[in-house]
Amino acid sequence: MTELIAKNFWQTVLGDIQIQITRPTYETWLKDTVGIKYKNKIFTVGTPNIFIAEMLQNRMYPMIVETARKIISPDIDLKFTVIGPNNSVQAPPPQRKPAKQKTREMISTPSLPLNNRYTFKSFVVGGSNELAYHAALAVAENPGTTYNPLFIYSDVGLGKTHLLHAIGSACNDKKISSLYITSEEYTNQFISSIKNGNTSEFRDSLRKTDIILIDDIQFLIGKEQTQEAFFHMFNYLHLLNKQIVIASDRPVYELHRLEKRIQSRLNSGLIVDIQKPELETRSAILSSKLEESGIYIHASIITFLSQQNFKSIRDLEGALTKITAFAKISKSELSLEKAQKLSADFISQTKKLFSPEDILSMVSKHLKIETNQIESDNRAKSIALGRMIAIHLLSEKTNLGPTDIGRQLGGRSHSTIIKILNNSKKKMDQDSDYKKTITTLLSA
Ligand code: ADP
Ligand code: MG
Repeated sequence: MTELIAKNFWQTVLGDIQIQITRPTYETWLKDTVGIKYKNKIFTVGTPNIFIAEMLQNRMYPMIVETARKIISPDIDLKFTVIGPNNSVQAPPPQRKPAKQKTREMISTPSLPLNNRYTFKSFVVGGSNELAYHAALAVAENPGTTYNPLFIYSDVGLGKTHLLHAIGSACNDKKISSLYITSEEYTNQFISSIKNGNTSEFRDSLRKTDIILIDDIQFLIGKEQTQEAFFHMFNYLHLLNKQIVIASDRPVYELHRLEKRIQSRLNSGLIVDIQKPELETRSAILSSKLEESGIYIHASIITFLSQQNFKSIRDLEGALTKITAFAKISKSELSLEKAQKLSADFISQTKKLFSPEDILSMVSKHLKIETNQIESDNRAKSIALGRMIAIHLLSEKTNLGPTDIGRQLGGRSHSTIIKILNNSKKKMDQDSDYKKTITTLLSA
């Protein structure tokens, strides 16, 4: 078969493939491929870069070969080769050794800048975030060894980005190259690298980095092609022993529309969560932020702020910034009443707060079990269920963090409470009766 015939045959195959797959998939992976030769039952296809060659070989092969067999010959096999700008066949790029001990400035990476305020030192550690903090610290000290990947999740504004930046900064200090990127930015860069035909450079820049910090992974949801590329990138980096740290605003099992394969990769490392801070941590964060600002406010205001139901630390910081800004310009000392007014916008008003006793008696009435059974170690099914419901409600309808809830329920540990909370969230997905009970009690 001559080169021209091979080219034409492949065009026909592409025409058929085009009607089987979506347009973006076609344009991303197949549009720029060419038929090169057909010899010994092997049809060689040229691709613009190694990335596309791998993708076609590993992910789309069955569909492509089936179409080629229909059009060219039933016993055909396909081989993908990278072709250069003049359609010359190139050997795949040699695998370079990972660039250890390089500073970020020395290599061009698609990294986003790090906020130098987000360090381990400025991160206040308490029961709600200590696991995440220690895991992040361990990763910064020994990248690629213990916890890989490290997956950190929490609601917004509770310190995930802060920890990712802290890892990045600590590594930079030690001249270990790191790369911080949000999954949204990753998607943009990935797409533009395809458009510009430099996917291999994009991939190279990742390969040169020792720690890859990917923030807000939930943005990959619904972006199938980027997920596909992400999955391969992930495996590739993992094989090279690169440390991968991922932050998400929800747990892995709630990333519903993320490919199962990616979910299982995320599950294969260490998963840590950050909960809303408890009273002590809130107070410590307030003190540390105040110290940083160098502004004095009365202790009653600090006590007031630490007792409020802020949705996140970001909101708590927002209220404090407003108060300190006002304190700075006002001549007399700021009153508690004024501080209450200034912070009102940041405090969750919609949620009516309950006392722990209210919650326990609510659950006890609804499920017809005694409150002291809920607090006890009794593992009878109905009581354990009541306990799980109570813990769920305590976390949603009171100002208590997991450590406080544990204390309230007969001295259970922080991690036990987190485990039960996660089980309860999972059960809500799987058991509609359970979900109904929770939503009914939550709306009470
Ligand atoms: P997330 O990424 O989880 O949405 P961020 O990391 O952006 O949250 O945190 C929101 C704000 O709260 C940031 O300004 C961050 O510095 C601050 N913050 C969060 N947790 C802590 C903590 N434990 N100690 C000090 N500041 C914190
Ligand atoms: Mg964040």
